[in-house]
Amino acid sequence: MQDKDALNELYSTLISKRQQVAQHAGFENYRDYKFAELGRFDYTKEDCFQFHESVKQYIRPLVDLINENKRKKLGLNELRPWDTDAEAEGTEPLRPFKTGTELLEKTVTCFTNLRPFFGDCLRTMKAMDRLDLESRKGKAPGGYNCPLAETGAPFIFMNAAGQMSDVTTMVHEGGHAVQSFLTHPLELSAFKEYPMEIAEVASMAMELFSMDHWDVFFDKEKDLKRAKEQQLERVISIFPWIATIDKFQHWVYENPQHTIKERAKKWMETLQEFSSPVIDWTGLEEYRKYSWQKQLHLFEAPFYYIEYGIAQLGAIGLWMQYKQNKETALDNYTAALSLGGTRTLPELYQAAGLQFNFSGDYIKKLMDFLRSEMEKLL
Ligand SMILES: [Zn+2]
Repeated sequence: MQDKDALNELYSTLISKRQQVAQHAGFENYRDYKFAELGRFDYTKEDCFQFHESVKQYIRPLVDLINENKRKKLGLNELRPWDTDAEAEGTEPLRPFKTGTELLEKTVTCFTNLRPFFGDCLRTMKAMDRLDLESRKGKAPGGYNCPLAETGAPFIFMNAAGQMSDVTTMVHEGGHAVQSFLTHPLELSAFKEYPMEIAEVASMAMELFSMDHWDVFFDKEKDLKRAKEQQLERVISIFPWIATIDKFQHWVYENPQHTIKERAKKWMETLQEFSSPVIDWTGLEEYRKYSWQKQLHLFEAPFYYIEYGIAQLGAIGLWMQYKQNKETALDNYTAALSLGGTRTLPELYQAAGLQFNFSGDYIKKLMDFLRSEMEKLL
């Protein structure tokens, strides 16, 4: 809050400079310029608008349901924002593993049970010393999979500390690693540069596929259920924020002359559209007005954000296939990932047996499926 004015000013400066860059390049506004610069040729601003509407109509109600369940579980009359991540009193945190070695061993088993090739990828990386999993003093934060062109075996870096979120990170990065192996045979390095909208399908779908074999991490059935429940909640509840940030940016660059006051008003309006009414924000209005400032992408990587939402839809679609026919879904996953960046996004999605589609009907179908999977866990 103490830096809110400076950040507001910085953003205004960025907007006017970006608008200038766009005009010099012959574009009407920075959004249109940025779509071209991002090489975003497979979907338009109208598709993004459709994504926003579909999220509002079909995903937000599911988030409301998650929040309502949370409120009941915590035995609260009002759910405050900080309660959304809370556990009922006396609940011990999930402890899926202790050391980095244990995390790796369990993940290898989990991947092997899913499909032996996936386990082999991790085994190869282990043999080549390509894994730095455990947190230690002085280690840089974060987690990522870094492809290495010569051998084709990538490197995974992360900061595991025995938490459930580390398992998610591990299987997520493991999904990226599988794609690194699958694309290694492609002739040109440039073919291995695939857009985020498919790269994150590799990792996010792996998070969901692997859930079937998360029993390696838990002795108790109820812990396993809790882990799965949290995963589904995470998958669903990320959408409204993605839509909020994306929709806000469209307005910002469509109206580059806006004042700081108008910006705050627009932000609150957009935020309201996608926020769950189940959460009680009373007394925090002043903070909320500036909450867009916490999203680094707005400053540093404009319009780069919706990719995660698109990929998550792809991952859910693949998981839906998986629930119908495991082997076919994994074949489709492998086939699409193996193409790297040699096809357009709709073609890559088609190879995965998916639709590249943000329509209400399609998103509703995906959400109905998620809702039924959530109900199975209750
Ligand atoms: Zn990722």
